[in-house]
Amino acid sequence: MSDSLFIDASKRLQAALKYVSISDDASERLKHPKVSLSVSIPVRMDDGSLKIFQGYRVRYDDTRGPAKGGVRYHPHVSLDEVQSLAFWMTFKCAVLNLPFGGGKGGITLNPKTLSKFELERLSRGYIDAIADFIGPDVDILAPDVYTNSMIMGWMMDQYSIIRRQVSPAVVTGKPLTMGGSVGRDGATAHGAFFVIQCILPKLDLLPQTTTVAIQGFGKVGAVLAELLAKVGYKVVAVSDSQGAIYAKQGLDIPSIRQYKASTQGIKAVYCQGTVCNIVEHQSLSNAELLALDVDVLIPAALENQITENNAKDIKAKYIFEVANGPIASTADEILSAKGISVFPDILVNAGGVTVSYFEWVQNRSGLYWTLEQVTERLKQKMVEETEQIWSISQELGISMRTAAYIHALNRLGEALNAKGTRDYYVNGHDS
Ligand code: NAD
Repeated sequence: MSDSLFIDASKRLQAALKYVSISDDASERLKHPKVSLSVSIPVRMDDGSLKIFQGYRVRYDDTRGPAKGGVRYHPHVSLDEVQSLAFWMTFKCAVLNLPFGGGKGGITLNPKTLSKFELERLSRGYIDAIADFIGPDVDILAPDVYTNSMIMGWMMDQYSIIRRQVSPAVVTGKPLTMGGSVGRDGATAHGAFFVIQCILPKLDLLPQTTTVAIQGFGKVGAVLAELLAKVGYKVVAVSDSQGAIYAKQGLDIPSIRQYKASTQGIKAVYCQGTVCNIVEHQSLSNAELLALDVDVLIPAALENQITENNAKDIKAKYIFEVANGPIASTADEILSAKGISVFPDILVNAGGVTVSYFEWVQNRSGLYWTLEQVTERLKQKMVEETEQIWSISQELGISMRTAAYIHALNRLGEALNAKGTRDYYVNGHDS
């Protein structure tokens, strides 16, 4: 039987622990989520019936600051998944040196089956259920899979109603008119783009001769595809939950985005005019997209897409993990033996939480930034941390994933040690 997602996620921590000299107390602390909440959410449906939904919120660690993490609406949401996502958030915030710990939430449902009224009642009901567990200085929410800025707005509004004070800093990724930050929508994609632009030149890959396949054409995947295509990368394949399209000559991403927005489907169209022609393309399954012979593969959908079952089929030379946990730990060795380099989620997709941090700062100061300021600060942070992780990886001759965990562990370990270690209490040393 395969491990739970959380046990699998923890294996990356184990791999990094042998390279860092943090106290046993700190490493033991980081192996366990601090607190997990499971709630049932009663929702009055449009037909008058009452339906109960299962929700979760996990605060994995808050040593470096309030917990921070998104809320996912998906049929596969489970406590195991939410704990794993909160674990990754803890390390992601430390990688980017944000003053946050890690949290995550979710509701088990297929949001596409609910009306807009039902979705609003569910989102407000979730906040009613977890209001005592969250707060601007405790645990801050954000969007994730199948949640968006409107849902974040409902959540912030409901929390404000409960607290009887406007509390914009409890949720990030809000609509601009409710205290959102400019640049938050495309932040994860921009962050990933800055990492890719920092790394690929080191590997002598030029945009014009580099082919890219992207799994997942949602809030992050579609924007990233467009950013990459704009600077000349050849995006040859994209997919959504229905399937994938491939065109050897490259796809016209802006047209596909337009087509997807109007039809909810993807097709290899070109030209942004009203009469778009269909580019000659091949329809693929998602499994076939993952196995394409491209330079760069970008999983931007869900976790566990590359496992020990299909890792042997992967032909891309470089994988940038935009989704959280798209590669199971059991696939790491297989990919590494094939000479495939993986750039990890806790770095690559950290642009979203970084601009969420900027939004939280703006909400608390009441002073709002321009798009140029947000983008410039995001770029600076992403590039700075990418360079540091690259150096660790080159110096120790280890994967970028282990290097990223080492980078985060050094910061987390220092913060945990500052509360006192065994050495301090027993031997009078600062550790
Ligand atoms: P989204 O819901 O907007 O998009 C998800 C996309 O994946 C959709 O196009 C969907 O059709 C597609 N998809 C679903 N199942 C699929 C499958 N089996 N094969 C191929 N495609 C499939 O979500 P998003 O916000 O773009 O998030 C995507 C990933 O990025 C998630 O893992 C999320 O946790 C991670 N992430 C998102 C953010 C953010 O700011 N939105 C930040 C950090 C990480």
